[in-house]
Amino acid sequence: MKISCECGASILDHTDHLPNKGHIFGDRDWFSFWDKIDAAIENPPKHKTRQETVMRTRQGEPSRLVWECHHCGRLYLEDANHDLIEYFPVNKKYNAILDR
Ligand SMILES: [Zn+2]
Repeated sequence: MKISCECGASILDHTDHLPNKGHIFGDRDWFSFWDKIDAAIENPPKHKTRQETVMRTRQGEPSRLVWECHHCGRLYLEDANHDLIEYFPVNKKYNAILDR
C-alpha cells in the first residue's frame, strides 16, 4: 500500500513491524475483543482445533489501521469503510506517535 501524503511524501506499507503504522481500537471494540480472547482461552470450542480457534479470533479482530507521515506527522486513519481520514498535528512535525 502507498499513501500519497498532502505534504508530498509517500507513506509505504509493504512489510510488517513498521514504526509509523498502527492498529487502533474504539473503546467499545477494545473490550469486546478482549472478551472474545478470554472466551477462546477459557472455553475453546470443542469441535475446533486450536489453530481454527486462533484464526477465528484473529479474523474477528476489529482494529483499524493508522499511518503517520515521516515528514509532516499527518495521521491517516481508516474509517469503518476503510476510507482514509487525515489528521494534522498542531506541532506540524513527525511525532513517532505509533513507535514506542
Ligand atoms: Zn506528510
